[in-house]
Amino acid sequence: MSKYAMALDQGTTSSRCILFDRDGQICSQVQEEFEQIFPRPGWVEHDPEAIWRTTLRSMKGAMAQIGAGPDDIASIGITNQRETTILWDRETGRPVYNAIVWQCRRTAPMIDRLKEEGYTDYIRRITGLLPDAYFSGTKIKWILDNVTGVRQKAESGQILFGTVDSWLIWKLTGGRVHVTDYTNASRTMLFDIHKLCWDKRLLSILDIPEQILPQVKPSSYVYGFTDQEIAGGVIPIAGAAGDQQCALFGQCCFDPGSVKNTYGTGCFMLMNTGHHAVQSRNGLLTTIAASDSSDVEYALEGSVFVAGAAIQWLRDGLGVLENSAESEILARSAEDTAGAYVVPAFTGLGAPYWDQYARGLVVGITRGFNRAHLVRATLESLAYQTYDVLKAMERDADVTLSDLKVDGGACANDFLMQFQADILDRTVIRPACIETTALGAAYLGGLAVGFWKDRDEVRSKWNSSRLFDPAMDRAKREKLLKGWHKAVELSRGWAEE
Ligand code: ADP
Repeated sequence: MSKYAMALDQGTTSSRCILFDRDGQICSQVQEEFEQIFPRPGWVEHDPEAIWRTTLRSMKGAMAQIGAGPDDIASIGITNQRETTILWDRETGRPVYNAIVWQCRRTAPMIDRLKEEGYTDYIRRITGLLPDAYFSGTKIKWILDNVTGVRQKAESGQILFGTVDSWLIWKLTGGRVHVTDYTNASRTMLFDIHKLCWDKRLLSILDIPEQILPQVKPSSYVYGFTDQEIAGGVIPIAGAAGDQQCALFGQCCFDPGSVKNTYGTGCFMLMNTGHHAVQSRNGLLTTIAASDSSDVEYALEGSVFVAGAAIQWLRDGLGVLENSAESEILARSAEDTAGAYVVPAFTGLGAPYWDQYARGLVVGITRGFNRAHLVRATLESLAYQTYDVLKAMERDADVTLSDLKVDGGACANDFLMQFQADILDRTVIRPACIETTALGAAYLGGLAVGFWKDRDEVRSKWNSSRLFDPAMDRAKREKLLKGWHKAVELSRGWAEE
Protein backbone atom coordinates (compact mmCIF):
# COMPACT_ATOMS: atom_id res chain seq x y z
CA MET A 1 0.00 0.00 0.00
CA SER A 2 1.31 3.45 -0.91
CA LYS A 3 2.57 5.53 1.96
CA TYR A 4 2.79 9.07 0.64
CA ALA A 5 0.89 11.72 -1.27
CA MET A 6 3.28 13.87 -3.28
CA ALA A 7 2.92 17.58 -3.84
CA LEU A 8 4.84 19.34 -6.57
CA ASP A 9 4.77 23.00 -5.61
CA GLN A 10 6.04 25.00 -8.54
CA GLY A 11 6.29 28.54 -7.17
CA THR A 12 7.50 31.84 -8.57
CA THR A 13 10.93 31.64 -7.02
CA SER A 14 11.45 27.93 -6.47
CA SER A 15 10.24 24.45 -7.31
CA ARG A 16 9.72 22.02 -4.53
CA CYS A 17 8.48 18.58 -3.78
CA ILE A 18 6.97 17.51 -0.47
CA LEU A 19 5.91 14.00 0.51
CA PHE A 20 3.06 13.89 3.05
CA ASP A 21 1.91 10.89 5.01
CA ARG A 22 -1.73 10.05 5.75
CA ASP A 23 -1.71 12.37 8.78
CA GLY A 24 -0.74 15.29 6.57
CA GLN A 25 2.74 15.37 8.13
CA ILE A 26 5.76 16.30 6.02
CA CYS A 27 8.04 13.26 5.56
CA SER A 28 10.53 14.75 3.14
CA GLN A 29 11.01 17.92 1.21
CA VAL A 30 13.42 19.25 -1.40
CA GLN A 31 13.39 22.75 -2.81
CA GLU A 32 15.40 24.44 -5.51
CA GLU A 33 15.43 28.10 -6.50
CA PHE A 34 15.73 29.10 -10.12
CA GLU A 35 16.66 32.21 -12.04
CA GLN A 36 14.41 35.24 -12.35
CA ILE A 37 14.92 36.90 -15.72
CA PHE A 38 14.25 40.63 -16.02
CA PRO A 39 14.92 41.52 -19.69
CA ARG A 40 13.58 45.08 -19.31
CA PRO A 41 12.05 47.19 -16.54
CA GLY A 42 8.67 45.68 -15.66
CA TRP A 43 9.28 42.46 -17.65
CA VAL A 44 9.64 39.11 -15.84
CA GLU A 45 10.45 35.73 -17.42
CA HIS A 46 11.44 32.19 -16.40
CA ASP A 47 13.10 29.49 -18.44
CA PRO A 48 10.44 26.72 -18.80
CA GLU A 49 13.19 24.09 -18.99
CA ALA A 50 14.55 25.35 -15.64
CA ILE A 51 11.04 25.07 -14.20
CA TRP A 52 10.90 21.47 -15.38
CA ARG A 53 14.48 20.55 -14.38
CA THR A 54 14.13 21.93 -10.84
CA THR A 55 10.74 20.23 -10.44
CA LEU A 56 12.05 16.85 -11.56
CA ARG A 57 15.18 17.14 -9.42
CA SER A 58 13.18 18.07 -6.34
CA MET A 59 10.82 15.16 -7.00
CA LYS A 60 13.67 12.67 -7.27
CA GLY A 61 15.45 14.27 -4.32
CA ALA A 62 12.42 14.09 -2.01
CA MET A 63 11.91 10.42 -2.88
CA ALA A 64 15.59 9.58 -2.40
CA GLN A 65 15.68 11.38 0.96
CA ILE A 66 13.45 8.72 2.52
CA GLY A 67 14.16 5.89 0.12
CA ALA A 68 10.68 6.04 -1.44
CA GLY A 69 10.08 4.31 -4.79
CA PRO A 70 7.27 5.04 -7.28
CA ASP A 71 5.08 2.38 -5.66
CA ASP A 72 5.22 4.24 -2.37
CA ILE A 73 3.61 7.30 -3.94
CA ALA A 74 -0.19 7.15 -4.07
CA SER A 75 -0.63 10.29 -6.15
CA ILE A 76 0.96 13.46 -7.42
CA GLY A 77 -0.80 16.77 -6.83
CA ILE A 78 0.54 19.80 -8.66
CA THR A 79 0.24 23.36 -7.52
CA ASN A 80 1.72 26.20 -9.45
CA GLN A 81 2.43 29.88 -9.84
CA ARG A 82 -0.68 30.95 -11.69
CA GLU A 83 -1.16 32.86 -14.97
CA THR A 84 2.47 32.34 -16.03
CA THR A 85 2.30 31.51 -19.71
CA ILE A 86 4.23 28.93 -21.73
CA LEU A 87 3.88 28.06 -25.41
CA TRP A 88 5.69 25.03 -26.74
CA ASP A 89 6.08 22.98 -29.89
CA ARG A 90 3.97 19.83 -29.79
CA GLU A 91 6.54 17.84 -31.80
CA THR A 92 9.88 18.91 -30.41
CA GLY A 93 8.56 19.61 -26.90
CA ARG A 94 10.59 22.82 -26.86
CA PRO A 95 9.22 26.10 -25.54
CA VAL A 96 9.04 28.72 -28.28
CA TYR A 97 9.81 31.51 -25.82
CA ASN A 98 10.56 31.94 -22.13
CA ALA A 99 7.64 31.67 -19.72
CA ILE A 100 6.06 35.10 -19.32
CA VAL A 101 5.59 35.38 -15.57
CA TRP A 102 2.38 36.60 -13.92
CA GLN A 103 4.19 39.70 -12.65
CA CYS A 104 5.23 40.79 -16.14
CA ARG A 105 3.77 44.12 -17.26
CA ARG A 106 4.72 43.99 -20.96
CA THR A 107 1.15 43.71 -22.17
CA ALA A 108 -0.22 46.70 -20.23
CA PRO A 109 -0.78 48.68 -23.48
CA MET A 110 -2.88 45.79 -24.90
CA ILE A 111 -5.01 45.95 -21.78
CA ASP A 112 -5.42 49.71 -22.17
CA ARG A 113 -6.75 49.11 -25.68
CA LEU A 114 -9.23 46.47 -24.46
CA LYS A 115 -10.50 48.90 -21.86
CA GLU A 116 -10.77 51.74 -24.39
CA GLU A 117 -12.71 49.45 -26.70
CA GLY A 118 -15.19 48.88 -23.89
CA TYR A 119 -14.51 45.21 -23.03
CA THR A 120 -14.12 45.67 -19.26
CA ASP A 121 -17.69 44.67 -18.39
CA TYR A 122 -17.69 41.70 -20.74
CA ILE A 123 -14.39 40.37 -19.33
CA ARG A 124 -15.68 40.81 -15.80
CA ARG A 125 -18.96 39.09 -16.45
CA ILE A 126 -17.52 36.09 -18.30
CA THR A 127 -14.18 35.52 -16.57
CA GLY A 128 -14.73 37.11 -13.14
CA LEU A 129 -11.49 39.08 -13.69
CA LEU A 130 -10.62 42.69 -14.29
CA PRO A 131 -8.71 43.28 -17.53
CA ASP A 132 -5.04 43.27 -16.51
CA ALA A 133 -1.67 42.26 -17.92
CA TYR A 134 -1.42 39.91 -14.92
CA PHE A 135 -3.57 37.22 -16.59
CA SER A 136 -2.45 34.82 -19.32
CA GLY A 137 -4.64 36.05 -22.21
CA THR A 138 -2.58 39.01 -23.38
CA LYS A 139 0.67 37.15 -22.62
CA ILE A 140 -0.34 34.42 -25.09
CA LYS A 141 -1.17 37.06 -27.67
CA TRP A 142 2.19 38.75 -27.11
CA ILE A 143 4.09 35.52 -27.89
CA LEU A 144 1.92 34.81 -30.96
CA ASP A 145 2.46 38.35 -32.23
CA ASN A 146 6.15 38.74 -31.42
CA VAL A 147 7.95 35.44 -31.86
CA THR A 148 8.65 34.77 -35.51
CA GLY A 149 6.69 31.92 -37.07
CA VAL A 150 4.75 30.98 -33.94
CA ARG A 151 1.34 32.26 -35.01
CA GLN A 152 1.50 30.30 -38.25
CA LYS A 153 2.51 27.12 -36.41
CA ALA A 154 -0.23 27.72 -33.83
CA GLU A 155 -2.83 27.95 -36.56
CA SER A 156 -1.66 24.66 -38.03
CA GLY A 157 -2.00 22.93 -34.63
CA GLN A 158 1.69 22.61 -33.86
CA ILE A 159 1.80 24.82 -30.78
CA LEU A 160 0.43 24.15 -27.31
CA PHE A 161 -0.30 26.69 -24.61
CA GLY A 162 -0.27 25.92 -20.93
CA THR A 163 0.02 27.48 -17.54
CA VAL A 164 2.73 25.82 -15.45
CA ASP A 165 0.43 22.96 -14.32
CA SER A 166 -0.22 22.00 -17.98
CA TRP A 167 3.46 22.22 -18.84
CA LEU A 168 4.44 19.95 -15.94
CA ILE A 169 1.68 17.40 -16.62
CA TRP A 170 2.70 17.32 -20.26
CA LYS A 171 6.35 16.76 -19.32
CA LEU A 172 5.59 14.20 -16.59
CA THR A 173 3.42 12.14 -18.94
CA GLY A 174 6.09 12.18 -21.63
CA GLY A 175 4.02 14.51 -23.84
CA ARG A 176 0.84 12.42 -23.73
CA VAL A 177 -1.58 14.67 -21.86
CA HIS A 178 -2.45 18.31 -22.50
CA VAL A 179 -4.83 19.45 -19.76
CA THR A 180 -5.35 22.09 -17.13
CA ASP A 181 -7.76 22.37 -14.21
CA TYR A 182 -10.65 24.78 -13.62
CA THR A 183 -8.73 26.98 -11.19
CA ASN A 184 -5.85 27.58 -13.57
CA ALA A 185 -8.20 28.06 -16.53
CA SER A 186 -10.05 30.70 -14.52
CA ARG A 187 -6.89 32.84 -14.48
CA THR A 188 -6.35 33.02 -18.22
CA MET A 189 -8.95 35.75 -18.92
CA LEU A 190 -10.22 33.41 -21.65
CA PHE A 191 -12.42 31.03 -19.63
CA ASP A 192 -16.13 31.37 -18.97
CA ILE A 193 -16.30 30.59 -15.26
CA HIS A 194 -20.08 30.12 -15.35
CA LYS A 195 -20.43 27.87 -18.43
CA LEU A 196 -17.03 26.23 -17.79
CA CYS A 197 -15.67 26.52 -21.32
CA TRP A 198 -13.21 28.65 -23.27
CA ASP A 199 -14.97 31.80 -24.44
CA LYS A 200 -14.97 32.07 -28.23
CA ARG A 201 -15.55 35.82 -28.24
CA LEU A 202 -12.52 36.50 -26.04
CA LEU A 203 -10.41 34.15 -28.15
CA SER A 204 -11.45 36.10 -31.21
CA ILE A 205 -10.85 39.51 -29.55
CA LEU A 206 -7.32 38.44 -28.63
CA ASP A 207 -6.80 36.51 -31.86
CA ILE A 208 -5.87 33.24 -30.13
CA PRO A 209 -6.45 29.97 -32.02
CA GLU A 210 -8.52 27.61 -29.89
CA GLN A 211 -6.48 24.53 -30.83
CA ILE A 212 -3.54 25.65 -28.67
CA LEU A 213 -5.63 25.47 -25.48
CA PRO A 214 -5.62 22.52 -23.06
CA GLN A 215 -8.69 20.50 -22.05
CA VAL A 216 -10.09 21.67 -18.74
CA LYS A 217 -10.76 19.16 -15.93
CA PRO A 218 -11.66 19.24 -12.22
CA SER A 219 -8.86 19.90 -9.70
CA SER A 220 -9.07 16.44 -8.15
CA TYR A 221 -8.98 14.02 -11.06
CA VAL A 222 -6.65 11.43 -12.56
CA TYR A 223 -5.25 13.34 -15.55
CA GLY A 224 -2.72 10.69 -16.51
CA PHE A 225 0.30 8.76 -15.28
CA THR A 226 3.99 9.53 -15.09
CA ASP A 227 6.09 8.19 -17.92
CA GLN A 228 8.13 5.18 -16.80
CA GLU A 229 11.37 6.65 -18.10
CA ILE A 230 10.88 9.97 -16.37
CA ALA A 231 9.76 8.88 -12.92
CA GLY A 232 11.12 5.32 -12.85
CA GLY A 233 7.53 4.11 -12.49
CA VAL A 234 3.92 4.87 -13.17
CA ILE A 235 2.35 7.27 -10.65
CA PRO A 236 -1.11 8.82 -11.04
CA ILE A 237 -1.12 12.58 -11.53
CA ALA A 238 -4.35 13.19 -9.72
CA GLY A 239 -4.53 16.79 -8.54
CA ALA A 240 -3.82 20.23 -9.93
CA ALA A 241 -4.77 23.72 -8.86
CA GLY A 242 -3.29 27.19 -8.78
CA ASP A 243 -1.21 27.93 -5.69
CA GLN A 244 -3.74 30.22 -4.03
CA GLN A 245 -6.64 27.88 -4.55
CA CYS A 246 -4.51 25.04 -3.16
CA ALA A 247 -3.72 27.10 -0.08
CA LEU A 248 -7.45 27.72 0.45
CA PHE A 249 -8.04 23.96 0.20
CA GLY A 250 -5.01 23.12 2.35
CA GLN A 251 -6.33 25.47 5.07
CA CYS A 252 -9.58 23.47 4.96
CA CYS A 253 -11.57 26.59 4.00
CA PHE A 254 -14.31 24.34 2.63
CA ASP A 255 -17.27 26.31 3.93
CA PRO A 256 -18.64 29.48 2.37
CA GLY A 257 -17.27 32.52 4.24
CA SER A 258 -13.96 30.93 5.26
CA VAL A 259 -10.87 32.97 4.36
CA LYS A 260 -7.10 32.59 4.18
CA ASN A 261 -4.26 34.96 3.36
CA THR A 262 -0.99 33.71 1.88
CA TYR A 263 2.24 35.70 2.25
CA GLY A 264 4.47 34.44 -0.56
CA THR A 265 6.03 36.39 -3.40
CA GLY A 266 2.72 38.25 -3.52
CA CYS A 267 -0.10 38.24 -1.00
CA PHE A 268 -3.37 36.57 -1.85
CA MET A 269 -6.52 36.54 0.20
CA LEU A 270 -9.26 34.15 -0.85
CA MET A 271 -12.74 33.62 0.52
CA ASN A 272 -14.74 30.53 -0.30
CA THR A 273 -18.19 31.58 -1.61
CA GLY A 274 -19.52 28.06 -2.24
CA HIS A 275 -21.53 27.48 -5.41
CA HIS A 276 -22.24 31.17 -5.77
CA ALA A 277 -19.96 33.30 -7.97
CA VAL A 278 -19.98 36.64 -6.14
CA GLN A 279 -19.21 39.61 -8.34
CA SER A 280 -17.06 42.16 -6.54
CA ARG A 281 -17.92 45.85 -6.25
CA ASN A 282 -14.63 46.62 -4.53
CA GLY A 283 -11.81 45.58 -6.84
CA LEU A 284 -11.68 41.88 -6.03
CA LEU A 285 -11.75 39.02 -8.51
CA THR A 286 -14.21 36.16 -8.84
CA THR A 287 -12.39 32.93 -9.39
CA ILE A 288 -12.89 29.18 -9.31
CA ALA A 289 -11.91 27.46 -6.04
CA ALA A 290 -10.26 24.04 -5.94
CA SER A 291 -12.68 21.28 -5.09
CA ASP A 292 -12.58 17.53 -4.72
CA SER A 293 -15.99 17.26 -6.32
CA SER A 294 -16.76 17.91 -9.97
CA ASP A 295 -19.29 20.57 -8.89
CA VAL A 296 -17.50 23.85 -9.25
CA GLU A 297 -17.10 26.12 -6.24
CA TYR A 298 -16.09 29.77 -6.32
CA ALA A 299 -13.93 32.20 -4.36
CA LEU A 300 -13.48 35.93 -4.05
CA GLU A 301 -9.85 36.94 -4.32
CA GLY A 302 -7.76 39.96 -3.45
CA SER A 303 -4.38 39.78 -5.21
CA VAL A 304 -1.41 41.84 -4.05
CA PHE A 305 1.50 41.51 -6.47
CA VAL A 306 4.48 42.26 -4.26
CA ALA A 307 4.75 41.03 -0.67
CA GLY A 308 7.59 38.60 0.14
CA ALA A 309 9.18 39.79 -3.12
CA ALA A 310 9.82 43.09 -1.34
CA ILE A 311 11.85 41.21 1.27
CA GLN A 312 13.74 39.52 -1.54
CA TRP A 313 14.41 42.96 -2.99
CA LEU A 314 15.90 44.07 0.34
CA ARG A 315 18.08 40.96 0.30
CA ASP A 316 19.10 40.65 -3.36
CA GLY A 317 18.45 44.08 -4.85
CA LEU A 318 19.68 46.32 -2.05
CA GLY A 319 21.85 43.88 -0.11
CA VAL A 320 20.53 45.17 3.24
CA LEU A 321 19.67 41.65 4.46
CA GLU A 322 21.68 38.44 4.51
CA ASN A 323 18.49 36.38 4.48
CA SER A 324 14.73 36.94 4.79
CA ALA A 325 14.58 35.81 8.43
CA GLU A 326 16.97 38.63 9.39
CA SER A 327 14.19 41.07 8.48
CA GLU A 328 12.46 40.19 11.74
CA ILE A 329 15.52 40.95 13.88
CA LEU A 330 16.11 44.28 12.14
CA ALA A 331 12.44 45.31 12.27
CA ARG A 332 12.35 44.64 15.99
CA SER A 333 15.53 46.67 16.51
CA ALA A 334 13.66 49.81 15.38
CA GLU A 335 10.85 51.21 17.46
CA ASP A 336 8.98 52.38 14.38
CA THR A 337 9.70 53.40 10.79
CA ALA A 338 10.68 56.97 11.73
CA GLY A 339 7.53 58.13 9.97
CA ALA A 340 8.46 56.61 6.59
CA TYR A 341 6.46 54.23 4.37
CA VAL A 342 7.44 51.81 1.62
CA VAL A 343 4.87 51.16 -1.11
CA PRO A 344 6.25 48.14 -3.01
CA ALA A 345 4.26 48.79 -6.19
CA PHE A 346 7.14 47.43 -8.30
CA THR A 347 4.79 45.93 -10.88
CA GLY A 348 1.83 48.25 -10.40
CA LEU A 349 -0.84 47.81 -7.75
CA GLY A 350 -3.32 44.93 -7.68
CA ALA A 351 -6.37 44.71 -5.43
CA PRO A 352 -8.15 46.86 -4.56
CA TYR A 353 -6.45 49.63 -6.60
CA TRP A 354 -5.68 47.97 -9.96
CA ASP A 355 -3.25 50.58 -11.18
CA GLN A 356 -0.93 49.16 -13.84
CA TYR A 357 1.17 52.31 -13.75
CA ALA A 358 1.74 52.69 -10.02
CA ARG A 359 5.41 52.21 -9.07
CA GLY A 360 7.28 51.63 -5.84
CA LEU A 361 8.30 54.38 -3.47
CA VAL A 362 9.91 55.08 -0.12
CA VAL A 363 8.44 58.27 1.29
CA GLY A 364 8.65 60.40 4.42
CA ILE A 365 12.40 59.94 4.92
CA THR A 366 14.19 62.19 7.39
CA ARG A 367 17.87 62.26 8.34
CA GLY A 368 17.46 59.65 11.07
CA PHE A 369 16.03 57.02 8.68
CA ASN A 370 18.25 53.94 8.62
CA ARG A 371 18.45 50.35 7.42
CA ALA A 372 16.28 49.01 10.25
CA HIS A 373 13.58 51.58 9.50
CA LEU A 374 13.65 50.60 5.83
CA VAL A 375 13.28 46.91 6.65
CA ARG A 376 10.51 47.59 9.14
CA ALA A 377 8.60 49.82 6.72
CA THR A 378 8.90 47.17 4.01
CA LEU A 379 7.54 44.45 6.28
CA GLU A 380 4.74 46.71 7.44
CA SER A 381 3.74 47.30 3.80
CA LEU A 382 2.70 43.63 3.58
CA ALA A 383 0.31 44.14 6.48
CA TYR A 384 -1.11 47.39 5.10
CA GLN A 385 -1.76 45.85 1.70
CA THR A 386 -3.54 42.96 3.42
CA TYR A 387 -5.63 45.46 5.39
CA ASP A 388 -6.85 47.10 2.17
CA VAL A 389 -7.83 43.74 0.68
CA LEU A 390 -9.58 42.51 3.82
CA LYS A 391 -11.68 45.66 3.98
CA ALA A 392 -12.72 45.23 0.34
CA MET A 393 -13.61 41.61 0.99
CA GLU A 394 -15.73 42.44 4.02
CA ARG A 395 -17.62 45.04 1.99
CA ASP A 396 -18.20 42.64 -0.93
CA ALA A 397 -19.33 39.72 1.18
CA ASP A 398 -21.11 41.91 3.72
CA VAL A 399 -19.47 40.18 6.66
CA THR A 400 -17.07 41.14 9.44
CA LEU A 401 -14.31 38.61 9.86
CA SER A 402 -13.26 37.82 13.39
CA ASP A 403 -9.92 36.34 12.47
CA LEU A 404 -7.63 35.54 9.57
CA LYS A 405 -5.92 32.22 8.76
CA VAL A 406 -2.47 32.81 7.29
CA ASP A 407 0.20 30.81 5.48
CA GLY A 408 3.09 31.22 3.01
CA GLY A 409 6.83 31.79 3.51
CA ALA A 410 6.64 35.22 5.12
CA CYS A 411 4.05 34.19 7.74
CA ALA A 412 6.96 32.62 9.62
CA ASN A 413 7.83 36.20 10.59
CA ASP A 414 6.37 36.78 14.09
CA PHE A 415 6.92 40.53 13.93
CA LEU A 416 4.91 40.74 10.73
CA MET A 417 2.10 38.56 12.08
CA GLN A 418 1.78 40.64 15.26
CA PHE A 419 1.79 43.87 13.26
CA GLN A 420 -0.82 42.33 10.97
CA ALA A 421 -3.09 41.51 13.91
CA ASP A 422 -2.58 45.05 15.24
CA ILE A 423 -3.38 46.78 11.95
CA LEU A 424 -6.40 44.57 11.22
CA ASP A 425 -7.58 44.58 14.82
CA ARG A 426 -8.31 40.89 14.24
CA THR A 427 -6.73 37.69 15.53
CA VAL A 428 -4.26 36.11 13.10
CA ILE A 429 -4.15 32.30 13.11
CA ARG A 430 -1.04 30.50 11.90
CA PRO A 431 -1.53 26.77 11.23
CA ALA A 432 0.85 24.09 12.44
CA CYS A 433 1.77 23.28 8.83
CA ILE A 434 2.45 26.54 6.97
CA GLU A 435 3.08 24.60 3.75
CA THR A 436 -0.65 24.72 3.09
CA THR A 437 -0.24 25.25 -0.65
CA ALA A 438 1.61 21.97 -1.03
CA LEU A 439 -0.70 20.31 1.45
CA GLY A 440 -3.74 21.41 -0.56
CA ALA A 441 -2.21 19.91 -3.71
CA ALA A 442 -1.42 16.67 -1.91
CA TYR A 443 -5.02 16.53 -0.61
CA LEU A 444 -6.50 17.10 -4.08
CA GLY A 445 -4.35 14.30 -5.53
CA GLY A 446 -4.84 11.96 -2.58
CA LEU A 447 -8.62 12.42 -2.50
CA ALA A 448 -8.87 11.51 -6.19
CA VAL A 449 -7.24 8.12 -5.63
CA GLY A 450 -8.76 7.34 -2.20
CA PHE A 451 -5.55 7.94 -0.19
CA TRP A 452 -7.84 10.10 1.96
CA LYS A 453 -11.52 9.30 2.14
CA ASP A 454 -13.21 12.69 2.17
CA ARG A 455 -13.02 16.32 3.31
CA ASP A 456 -13.97 15.43 6.86
CA GLU A 457 -10.98 13.17 7.19
CA VAL A 458 -8.75 15.95 5.86
CA ARG A 459 -10.32 18.56 8.13
CA SER A 460 -9.73 16.42 11.22
CA LYS A 461 -5.97 16.86 10.64
CA TRP A 462 -5.91 20.68 10.63
CA ASN A 463 -4.22 22.30 13.66
CA SER A 464 -3.35 25.87 14.52
CA SER A 465 0.07 26.49 16.00
CA ARG A 466 -0.08 30.09 17.13
CA LEU A 467 -2.59 32.92 17.53
CA PHE A 468 -1.60 36.58 17.33
CA ASP A 469 -4.07 38.82 19.15
CA PRO A 470 -4.38 42.52 18.33
CA ALA A 471 -2.75 44.84 20.87
CA MET A 472 -2.62 48.29 19.26
CA ASP A 473 -4.86 51.14 20.31
CA ARG A 474 -7.29 52.57 17.83
CA ALA A 475 -5.78 56.06 17.60
CA LYS A 476 -2.36 54.68 16.68
CA ARG A 477 -3.82 52.26 14.15
CA GLU A 478 -5.80 54.98 12.45
CA LYS A 479 -2.83 57.32 12.31
CA LEU A 480 -0.63 54.66 10.73
CA LEU A 481 -3.31 53.73 8.19
CA LYS A 482 -3.83 57.36 7.25
CA GLY A 483 -0.14 57.68 6.45
CA TRP A 484 -0.23 54.46 4.43
CA HIS A 485 -3.13 55.61 2.28
CA LYS A 486 -1.41 58.93 1.65
CA ALA A 487 1.70 57.06 0.50
CA VAL A 488 -0.34 54.79 -1.81
CA GLU A 489 -1.87 57.84 -3.48
CA LEU A 490 1.62 59.17 -4.21
CA SER A 491 2.66 55.93 -5.91
CA ARG A 492 -0.25 55.90 -8.34
CA GLY A 493 0.02 56.55 -12.07
CA TRP A 494 3.79 57.10 -11.86
CA ALA A 495 4.78 55.17 -15.01
CA GLU A 496 2.02 56.58 -17.20
CA GLU A 497 3.43 58.12 -20.39
P1 ADP B 1 6.33 31.55 -3.42
O1 ADP B 1 5.56 30.27 -3.29
O2 ADP B 1 5.52 32.70 -3.93
O3 ADP B 1 7.65 31.40 -4.13
P2 ADP B 1 6.84 31.25 -0.52
O4 ADP B 1 5.54 30.99 0.15
O5 ADP B 1 7.86 30.16 -0.62
O6 ADP B 1 6.67 32.02 -1.91
O7 ADP B 1 7.51 32.45 0.33
C1 ADP B 1 8.71 32.98 -0.06
C2 ADP B 1 8.66 34.48 0.15
O8 ADP B 1 8.57 34.74 1.54
C3 ADP B 1 9.91 35.13 -0.35
O9 ADP B 1 9.54 36.24 -1.13
C4 ADP B 1 10.66 35.57 0.90
O10 ADP B 1 11.28 36.83 0.72
C5 ADP B 1 9.58 35.66 1.94
N1 ADP B 1 10.03 35.24 3.28
C6 ADP B 1 10.47 34.02 3.65
N2 ADP B 1 10.79 34.00 4.97
C7 ADP B 1 10.54 35.24 5.46
C8 ADP B 1 10.64 35.87 6.74
N3 ADP B 1 11.07 35.20 7.81
N4 ADP B 1 10.27 37.16 6.82
C9 ADP B 1 9.82 37.85 5.76
N5 ADP B 1 9.69 37.31 4.53
C10 ADP B 1 10.04 36.03 4.37
